[in-house]
Amino acid sequence: MSNFTTLAERNRVFAEHEGHKALTSVMPRVPVLVITCLDPRTDPASFLGVDPGDAPIVRNAGGRVTEDVINDVAFIAHLAETLGASGLDGPSLEIAVVHHTQCGTGFLADLRFRADFAARTGLDEGALEAGAVIDPDVTVRIDVDRLIASPKLSSNVLISGHVYDLDTGLVTTVVEAARPVEQSEVAA
Ligand SMILES: [Zn+2]
Repeated sequence: MSNFTTLAERNRVFAEHEGHKALTSVMPRVPVLVITCLDPRTDPASFLGVDPGDAPIVRNAGGRVTEDVINDVAFIAHLAETLGASGLDGPSLEIAVVHHTQCGTGFLADLRFRADFAARTGLDEGALEAGAVIDPDVTVRIDVDRLIASPKLSSNVLISGHVYDLDTGLVTTVVEAARPVEQSEVAA
């Protein structure tokens, strides 16, 4: 028996209720793309009340903005712009980076844990150390800056940064929504 059996049984119930039939558009109802951690405690469906069809979610260890994440964000932003939901007359798609307290990536700050994981995967120890979310207020600013500086993103998007506190259940905005840097501004 697979561990997935429990979820497959829940899927049967989900399909019977036919809620999926109302989800006809790939475009989000709430024009926000959330980047957050894959931690089971940080599901945007619970702490942000994101319902099916509301918003695209990108999750990885720590909710870090890697080049792969930037590519996914650029794709969604391009799709939104092209299909018109985030066109020049509509609300801009906002990219919200949400890091959280008590993040499991904090184990990467432990020398022994990091060295063992690097040996197992071949990943660079320095990169693993940089990927740890020890202080979410600090790392979320780093990741918002990465997005803002990326030439891949449309200047029509907004980018914001937030921290989710597992103790209080509250999300605090630490970087107000701003547009990415126009490459012409970088060159000037
Ligand atoms: Zn985490």
